[in-house]
Amino acid sequence: MSRRFLSIGECMVELSQAGDGLLRKGFAGDTFNTAWYARACLGPDWSVDYFTALGDDAMSDEMVAFIDKAGIGTSLIRRIKGKTPGLYMINLKNGERSFSYWRDNSAARSLAADPDGLREAVESVDVVYFSGITLAILPQEDATTLLAEIRRAKAAGKLVVFDPNIRPRLWSSYDIMHATISEGARSSVIVMPSFDDEAAHFGDDSIEATVHRYRALGAVHIVVKNGADGVRLNFAGEESFVPAQKVEQVVDTTSAGDSFNGAFLAHYLDTADETAAARFAAGVAARVVSEHGALVAKEKLGLDGG
Ligand code: ADP
Repeated sequence: MSRRFLSIGECMVELSQAGDGLLRKGFAGDTFNTAWYARACLGPDWSVDYFTALGDDAMSDEMVAFIDKAGIGTSLIRRIKGKTPGLYMINLKNGERSFSYWRDNSAARSLAADPDGLREAVESVDVVYFSGITLAILPQEDATTLLAEIRRAKAAGKLVVFDPNIRPRLWSSYDIMHATISEGARSSVIVMPSFDDEAAHFGDDSIEATVHRYRALGAVHIVVKNGADGVRLNFAGEESFVPAQKVEQVVDTTSAGDSFNGAFLAHYLDTADETAAARFAAGVAARVVSEHGALVAKEKLGLDGG
């Protein structure tokens, strides 16, 4: 029987420099990137769906077609009359990247505004993935609705996975950010934080501090990513460490963490072996940071040992 992986969040239109003042259009967003890599790494016995809200304009249509072409299910995506997708631009100045966002009124901010649709979607799947960005873009009462559904999914025995992906600019206050991200972790089974973010915004002075804070909240398994320094795992109390893979030339670290998460989950769902999954994911993430862009094609991920 086919099993179902659901990722919940916002996918945006991406504009990047294409030379001569031209802009290239793409689509990306943390939870979508993870769905992309999960799809690339999971076998045909798994379906991967994306849950978000989009508008009824041509750009929303194009995004749905793009998601569909990636082999990711779009039937749970809600379309809202008069709305449009969020947009971001990657600026390049003297080799340094910076980002501009136009997402304050994006359709995705309403993704949890239809509680019945949300419940139906979550009930129909085996694995639920979401992030701190998913929570940050929602009006506070919708974040509460989403978290209640997530807790329900965890209580029903589904594998709920959360990446805190802390982005202070998306939150109205530090207090709300700390409380909501902590609630996201408490409601989850696996939490996959990046140590840099946790140290900067929760004040953790070591990876152990991050692991223990999330374990104390009630998350069962923790995977702390630490860039080129590898990942620390704590699975039901069992500690392990998996190094990153050496990369000859780091080209673009966009979606390193997102790709790690997608590849890790795909392998873990297949084998229930978290250290093997982390080794596999380190290989995929190493390929991703060696290429430009958030979404690296399946053929370039070295999945066949090539
Ligand atoms: P995030 O993008 O969420 O900050 P990290 O920077 O921790 O996440 O990267 C996630 C994973 O990507 C790491 O665990 C590692 O496997 C891989 N990775 C990131 N940067 C490098 C690097 N410079 N060399 C090799 N692997 C890397």
